Amino acid sequence: SCPVNAITAGDNTLKFLRDLATPNKIVITQMAPAIRVTVGEAFGFEPGDNVENKLAAGLRKLGVDYVFDTTWAADLTIMEEAAELQDRLERYFSGDKTVKLPILTSCCPAWVKFIEQNHADMLDVPSSAKSPMQMFATVAKDLWAKEKGFARNQVTSVAIMPCTAKKYEASRPEFSRGLNYDVDYVITTKELIKIFEDTGINLKEIEGQEIDQVLGEYTGAGIIFGRTGGVIEAATRTAVEKMTGKKVDNIEFECLRGWEGFRTCELEVGDLKLRIGVAHGLREAGKMLDKIRSGEEFFHAIEIMACTGGCIGGGGQPKARNKKEALEKRAEGLNDIDRSKELRRSNENPEVLAIYDKYLDYPLSHKAHELLHTRYFARIKK
Ligand code: SF4
Repeated sequence: SCPVNAITAGDNTLKFLRDLATPNKIVITQMAPAIRVTVGEAFGFEPGDNVENKLAAGLRKLGVDYVFDTTWAADLTIMEEAAELQDRLERYFSGDKTVKLPILTSCCPAWVKFIEQNHADMLDVPSSAKSPMQMFATVAKDLWAKEKGFARNQVTSVAIMPCTAKKYEASRPEFSRGLNYDVDYVITTKELIKIFEDTGINLKEIEGQEIDQVLGEYTGAGIIFGRTGGVIEAATRTAVEKMTGKKVDNIEFECLRGWEGFRTCELEVGDLKLRIGVAHGLREAGKMLDKIRSGEEFFHAIEIMACTGGCIGGGGQPKARNKKEALEKRAEGLNDIDRSKELRRSNENPEVLAIYDKYLDYPLSHKAHELLHTRYFARIKK
């Protein structure tokens, strides 16, 4: 269940198996950045071991037609979020007092629901960029499927995610065309492990395979989305270089990293000085928002993740005997993947840049807004 009791939602395991067995359905999957460093734990791998190629092989063995990667869309999310951050900061530094700061990252549906329920006066603060899961799904159904000659309702879009909050997010009406949802349903890591176990697929033994292109290519910035501080670090890598016009040598912003529930980073790059806040766990997030609202704290940007450690600690992830140690290893696993990548900035992802060339023009364009952005609503707690 969701560790913050934010959401509960149903198990779609049987639906998934039924869809895989239906001849005319085209089943595509996406997997969140954090999944690949946790799912292996159920098959004898260490926390943090990257098993993405084995996951791809396992999903194909189950019958999935296209195995894609949410991390591709994490890079797309950063293109939009970093452009929004840059736009708000440039207007703020030029003296425009109407600009709303801080800007908040918006890819965790549990905290989005939390702010809608508890801080309805602050709904203009979050970035309007959809989460990577929702960006992936809308691009897959509205652009990729069309290119392949598939009708929207011929494609079943399944997201492998670290939490049940993502099931709730997928069911929000703004992410559907009538009864056809961009994400048809979500399977959690634990549910996928059970499916693999029940069907005799052992990730330890299976030969790894590549993730499908074109919705599979990702950079180091996209992969660190899975740990606390990673989303804002990825956005900062792109926004700071765009604002200063200079390449930053060390893009591992240490002050954004760490395990304190609520931390502050004063980041200086050239003449640019940014104050950034990071919170994980809803209690810490609540404290942060209260301090911002009262004027006690000022930030240019903040990241909030509902789960301790971020998505590597999500309620749909395998339970670890030593939680702290497992979270540290999972986070380091993601950092290792980041370091291993030649491309470590989202704005360097060739497949993301190709989407702008072909369909979206540029970040925050009218077309990008139509497809990749959303709105938030005040909600009553039930
Ligand atoms: Fe889900 Fe990640 Fe948010 Fe936890 S931090 S609720 S795993 S999106």
